[in-house]
Amino acid sequence: MKKQRYERPLIKKLEDNMPNKFGMRKEYLPMTHIDDVSVKELIDQYGSPLFVISERKIRDNIRKAKTAFETRYPKVQFAWSYKTNYLNAVCNTFHQEGSWAEVVSEFEYDKAIHNGINGSKIIYNGPDKTEESIVKAINNSSLIHIDHLDEFYTIRDVAIRLNKIARVAIRVNMDTGIYPMWDRFGFNYENGQAWTALNKIMHSDVMNLVGLHTHIGTFMLSPNAYAVAAGKLADLAIGIRDRYKHEIEYIDMGGGFASMNKLRGSYLPGTDINPTINDFAEAITGALISSNFGPGKLPLLILETGRALIDDAAHLLGTVISNKRLSDGRRSTIIDIGVNLLFTSFWYEHNITPAQPFTQYSEDTVVYGPLCMNIDVLRENISLPLLNRGEHVVIQNVGAYNMTQWMQFITLRPRIVMIDMEGNPHVVRERESLERLLEFERMPDHLKDFKL
Ligand SMILES: *Cc1c(COP(=O)(O)O)cnc(C)c1O
Repeated sequence: MKKQRYERPLIKKLEDNMPNKFGMRKEYLPMTHIDDVSVKELIDQYGSPLFVISERKIRDNIRKAKTAFETRYPKVQFAWSYKTNYLNAVCNTFHQEGSWAEVVSEFEYDKAIHNGINGSKIIYNGPDKTEESIVKAINNSSLIHIDHLDEFYTIRDVAIRLNKIARVAIRVNMDTGIYPMWDRFGFNYENGQAWTALNKIMHSDVMNLVGLHTHIGTFMLSPNAYAVAAGKLADLAIGIRDRYKHEIEYIDMGGGFASMNKLRGSYLPGTDINPTINDFAEAITGALISSNFGPGKLPLLILETGRALIDDAAHLLGTVISNKRLSDGRRSTIIDIGVNLLFTSFWYEHNITPAQPFTQYSEDTVVYGPLCMNIDVLRENISLPLLNRGEHVVIQNVGAYNMTQWMQFITLRPRIVMIDMEGNPHVVRERESLERLLEFERMPDHLKDFKL
């Protein structure tokens, strides 16, 4: 007979079925499958840890977002924010759903071109656009969103040299009632910087002012801030029309809509309190429709929303390494997912769900990753049932930023699998190997040999 595991006895007040001030405790269930594919089989086949992306969920999310905006406003265009998740399989899913590409560096620009995006459907943002990339962007008729005046002069000089017209917009920053203000990108609305930049563009004969852009922040919890921002961009657009008889083609409201994650320190789960895409759509389109554009003159509305469309489409699967008691008696569980793979654990309280049935007794637990670093804490405090060594967990809502901000640190980066619409998993990124990493290293001759 197999030896049973010893579990240290524990006296605990029973809280089952005790209502707290928000009502009954929610029952919670193991997460054994993702899109009908078994978590255990995924780990057996592809290893642990493992990122798993749901193609179905991505398509669902972008379709819902399009419906939210298109039912409220006549002309809408989405552009996928590459830095939020620039895996080619993810980008192409969005492109198949009609999204353009929104990029913030030359590397991302090249990635979008590599994915086959027509240059005129690339929105080029960011404070560091290399001169070489500006040459490409002008040659490809991309939409260049100017961040500062030094960039304005570079674009002007390149356009003169190429004898081409650059399609440009400016990024505008402004007071939307949310503090601290994001005023490090673009030109300020309140102090007149935005108008200075617009006047310079309008007086240049190598630039065509095609739009106005803002991106007011990230994980925004206030739809009203977007209404304020849309109103201010509309005022600029109407000011340009009146002053120069020039009509811009689009207003780009950026991204930053909150996903359904729970911020650290927040009392209630994100699903209960975070605004939905419909709330943001209502705020933005309401402000534009109520502004002074004449009938039939509303500009195209561009959205660059990232996290809200991808967060809940990805899961991170992992395996329990060990359980042990800390010096104060608290239970700690060590799993094979470190903060190097889950950057967002620094600001979210991610749900960690067992991937197999469990006993009803849960206990406050600290969840650590496998790194030999004190900071490697995924959850300071989460109520979990006992998870035995070798059992699996699923961390939900990890699609935004983790697969771009991750790093090799002590461990290498794992595989990423995407489950297609028919429930077939596909590897969309291989796990890293030592050989691959060594390709980047060079050894000076005098360091090649040693004797110990
Ligand atoms: C990062 C970024 C986005 C996407 O932001 P999310 O918070 O992921 O929605 C959109 N536009 C610009 C300019 C960005 O830098």
